[in-house]
Amino acid sequence: MKTIIEPFRIKSTEPIKLISKEERIKALEKAHNNVFLLDAQDCCIDLLTDSGTGCMSTAQWAAMMLGDESYAGSNSWKKFEKTVKDITGIKHVLPTHQGRAAEAILAQTIIKKGDIIPNNSHFDTTRANIEYVGGVALNLLCDDGLDTSSESLFKGNMNLDKLKDCIKEHGKEKIPFCMITVTNNTGGGQPVSMENIRDIKEILKKYDIPLIIDACRFAENAYFIHEREEVCKDKSLLEIAREMFSYADGATMSCKKDGLANIGGFLICNDDQWAEVFKNLLILREGFPTYGGLAGRDLEAIAVGLMEALELDYQVYRHATVTYLSDRLIERGIPIVRPAGGHAVFLDAKQFLPNISPLQYPGIGIINAIYIEGGIRGVELGSVMFGKFDENGNEIPSSLELVRLAFPRRVYTQSHFDYVVEVIESVWKKKDQIPGYRITYQPEFLRHFSCHFETV
Ligand SMILES: *Cc1c(COP(=O)(O)O)cnc(C)c1O
Repeated sequence: MKTIIEPFRIKSTEPIKLISKEERIKALEKAHNNVFLLDAQDCCIDLLTDSGTGCMSTAQWAAMMLGDESYAGSNSWKKFEKTVKDITGIKHVLPTHQGRAAEAILAQTIIKKGDIIPNNSHFDTTRANIEYVGGVALNLLCDDGLDTSSESLFKGNMNLDKLKDCIKEHGKEKIPFCMITVTNNTGGGQPVSMENIRDIKEILKKYDIPLIIDACRFAENAYFIHEREEVCKDKSLLEIAREMFSYADGATMSCKKDGLANIGGFLICNDDQWAEVFKNLLILREGFPTYGGLAGRDLEAIAVGLMEALELDYQVYRHATVTYLSDRLIERGIPIVRPAGGHAVFLDAKQFLPNISPLQYPGIGIINAIYIEGGIRGVELGSVMFGKFDENGNEIPSSLELVRLAFPRRVYTQSHFDYVVEVIESVWKKKDQIPGYRITYQPEFLRHFSCHFETV
């Protein structure tokens, strides 16, 4: 049999509704042309994010009933800790309410002003947390990763020469740790190879620089390694994940991704002294170290979800849904990042709208057009999200202008994606009518969440 089917059946449904085009136009106006400010019920197919939007399994719901809500030393915590250690082999586990809380604790305890943190590509909250404490978030993505048409298999890899140059230029004193994001969310959800992780560790080891994995999609990355790296094809995803983490000194995690849960995260490390300072800040910000801002039932759901994410038939299905959408867009000549990433399809907004300059935000143009056309919500990963300014306050455009259509886990069916294809194709056919945008209001950090736009 060639057809890949969903390895589950549906036990509980949630209605979705498509409001009229007039209502969508009004809703977007009211949201200042920023889809983050829309009411969720006005979005028919919500591909804004794959974060915390997944569907939990019956095993996860059942586990939630076992939630032990004791303040300290709960049974749920023990299951959570055991599962995280089983997958990662890392010594100290600190639960947090989300990935960014783990990043904040890491940044605020370890990074000094002027420190450099290399990564393949920093995710937006990671960058914001590093910059908030005066650090510099450096992206050292391989060249293939910047070429949206390259069919390279591991476009999330770090450029090792750039890493060596970075260490030579700044010295290890200025680099308290290096990160690697698997899969590389910001760079199109592209995977990082085992070989690359191993090589990064080799380089860092010479200088005693710790490696921290941004592990949000560790299971999707393990699946890509399984499929694409010959030496790993006979290993289970759990074995691959264990090897990935064996090269790391720590990790930050958002369990809203490959934890298959609606909330949660963790920070892990091997170093005892780091664990001590992390714990002190954790207690101040998140909670006692055996719950860290989560309910016992959340810890239970995550412990089950982390292992479900490593099931091969789940990953096969998940990748098939992403490929299903991307193949249909490619057939229609619609420019997307190739090959398809792990959790999303990324439209290449620069190629989609070549006549709109990056600082008139072509990604926002596409997002707003597909919302109006079909009530579908996506997100820009381009000059708005990664907006930077030079010393004179001039805006520097991002190297990539992408529109991300993220896939909530186990939520939408094939006919939902057929509809998505129809809507995007219809927008593609009248792309010349899409306007550019300017920002009329923006906050200092993470501006994409709340800024206002008007058409140029
Ligand atoms: C989502 C995400 C984060 C932050 O996690 P939150 O739970 O949203 O705070 C960090 N890094 C990457 C790669 C992510 O995708």
